[in-house]
Amino acid sequence: MAESILVTGGAGFIGSHIVEDLLEQGKKVFVVDDLSTGRLDNLAAVREHPNLHLIIDTILNWPMMNDTVRQVDRMIHLAAAVGVKKIIEEPVETITTNVRGTEIVLDCCHRHEVPLYVASTSEIYGKAGERLHEEHDRVMGSTTHRRWAYACTKVLDEFLALAYHHEKGLPVIIGRFFNTVGPRQTGKWGMVLPTFVGQALRGEPITVYGSGDQRRSFCHVEDSVRAVLGLMEHEGAYGEVYNIGNEHEITITELAERVKARTGSDSEIVYVPYEEAYGEGFEDMERRQPDISKITAAIGWTPEHSLDDIIDDVIQYHQAAVEV
Ligand code: UDP
Repeated sequence: MAESILVTGGAGFIGSHIVEDLLEQGKKVFVVDDLSTGRLDNLAAVREHPNLHLIIDTILNWPMMNDTVRQVDRMIHLAAAVGVKKIIEEPVETITTNVRGTEIVLDCCHRHEVPLYVASTSEIYGKAGERLHEEHDRVMGSTTHRRWAYACTKVLDEFLALAYHHEKGLPVIIGRFFNTVGPRQTGKWGMVLPTFVGQALRGEPITVYGSGDQRRSFCHVEDSVRAVLGLMEHEGAYGEVYNIGNEHEITITELAERVKARTGSDSEIVYVPYEEAYGEGFEDMERRQPDISKITAAIGWTPEHSLDDIIDDVIQYHQAAVEV
């Protein structure tokens, strides 16, 4: 019988790419998604697939989760409130979904002995930024800066997942995504690349926040998905935490210039103060670069897509979406 896997957040940006790959591998896939940031359109190519079971509901529904987890062999837990803008605008929902949701997921997996992958984020390193190794110290801002709520919820998720592993023997793998980008990511929740590409294609100003000297490392969603699925096949990964990202860095100003060049846009690049973009007291980090030596040593994974590949894929996706 085909192995069955539950993907929470399976209608989301990263989730939908994972679901497609799992179906292609012949797996039976259950998706639980409340469509808060996910979209059914993301699953358009596989909606009618006989091995896809789509449940539109929240992971906070414990009876539904318990019943679904009972039916599966493994789980990939991606469902979360994401995006800097959403976190700042809807902190209650962010904290509740990310903390209580993961508590429910871990409880159900423990009851039914289901191994799982838990998605975490580079945001947990906080203001620490350079060649971040998994054991690197975290540097968080004050609780009065709403941005840090997201990082703290994910830190708690990690602690709880590791506690289930150590105390109760639950097989769990944690992956920290670093600025994953690619087709299907929306700019609606503040993510920079889809925002810049959309602005460039529409001929609107490209909005660089702050000085534009802050640097990020962008990883193509196809590379990130390959990392997740590779870790799931590696039993040595249980109880471990891995960075998943691209070590190549670029400043946000350079990113804006690169997007402008590759779209052939006349858009002006404008600088917007953080206060205007996110409100008073916003803190950004200067750098956020992964050290990926741990995952490379474990499963031989390295990213294959260059930044230009990524930008071109995002442009293509946006152009197709505009035509639809
Ligand atoms: N950013 C920007 N313009 C935008 C959206 C974001 O300059 O329209 C900046 C943002 O301030 C940050 C970087 O781009 O320095 C990456 O932002 P994103 O929200 O994509 O990811 P994160 O901050 O989580 O790395």
